[in-house]
Amino acid sequence: MSSVRAFLPKAAPSPSVSTAACVRSHARSGSAVAQGAFWVMARRITLVAACVDAAMLVLFLALGSPILAWMNLVAMAMYATAYWCLGRRLNAPAVALIWVEVLGHAAIGTLLVGWNSGFHYYLLMFIPAIVVSSRWREAIPMLVVLYVTYLGMYAASRHYGVSAPLSETGLWIVQTFNVAVVFAMAAYTARFYYGMVRSAERKLVELATKDSLTGLSNRGHMLALAEHEIARARRSGQHIALIIADIDHFKKINDGRGHEAGDTVLAHTGKLLASLCREQDVVARWGGEEFLILLPATVLASAHDIAERLRSEVAATPVVHGNSCASCSLSLGVTTLAPSESFNTAIARADRALYRSKAEGRNRVTVMA
Ligand code: GH3
Ligand code: MG
Ligand code: MG
Repeated sequence: MSSVRAFLPKAAPSPSVSTAACVRSHARSGSAVAQGAFWVMARRITLVAACVDAAMLVLFLALGSPILAWMNLVAMAMYATAYWCLGRRLNAPAVALIWVEVLGHAAIGTLLVGWNSGFHYYLLMFIPAIVVSSRWREAIPMLVVLYVTYLGMYAASRHYGVSAPLSETGLWIVQTFNVAVVFAMAAYTARFYYGMVRSAERKLVELATKDSLTGLSNRGHMLALAEHEIARARRSGQHIALIIADIDHFKKINDGRGHEAGDTVLAHTGKLLASLCREQDVVARWGGEEFLILLPATVLASAHDIAERLRSEVAATPVVHGNSCASCSLSLGVTTLAPSESFNTAIARADRALYRSKAEGRNRVTVMA
């Protein structure tokens, strides 16, 4: 069992402070994804290892060493069995077979043709696997065992000498082959672990910047992007337009059709707004049922036209939830941010414009310069 753990990616450590349930569930699902990917990689490696052994079998037959060729035949059978086990989620026997094959093959190969054959390099492949997949208190004894085995193999090969010597050229070919395989495997596993880190990083960035319901930027991400856009607008002297949109009588949708229907309306409206805006525009979920749209290099008249289009499209597009349809409308406030102005001042003005839209009957656009 401990050897299985040695190949398992460590579960995400639980944060010391209490965090939201969704973050915990993301961490759990992220860990499950990493474990799934790990076993896919392990299965692929058994296949590659069997192919390497097939090539070695041919090589040793050509070098006139049938005993080593036979050893490769046994190794191929072990990898084929490990491949079969991994396909049926019998991970423990698969891992045991891989360990026995690598350790046994390296030891026998070294004793038969000598230390210079480079068979011992395969043991080094266990170092990253052990360290990445175990806690330190398990990894350290395993590394010590590996180290002692490695040195033991060296001492044994010096003590017993070479029992099935190859020609000088043969030995050189075997060593070159083994070193090339170990290089390729080390590069592949490093790439695999790097890929896992990158994908975890991408998920964290998404969690930190996106609103999970609508897929739009969240408030924090909008503030960061706004800062960047404002700096750019100040350099170019261009205006930035802001549109705040709030769903009308949204509470009634929640109360009348249920919270889930409310969520559907929110997600649908967010996606619709994003689809109607240009690529350079930033659309964010600013609050509960409120959206903020930042339009770079846009004058007030154009922003008004865009807001009007958003309003009419949302009003004309019913939202399907279950067997029923819900329609909603937006009230919008539009303004522009002058190069010398702060973001908060412009937002406060857009808010005032929005509340005038509400006060004047909703489903309308108000512009404030
Ligand atoms: P108004 O036209 O004046 O904007 O009225 P309203 O009902 O849209 O506004 P109000 O502020 O009274 O209610 C907003 C509601 O939005 C209250 C809140 O429970 C709900 N809400 C906020 N976030 C979510 C969410 O993520 N999902 C759902 N379903 N409802 C939400
Ligand atoms: Mg509202
Ligand atoms: Mg609101």
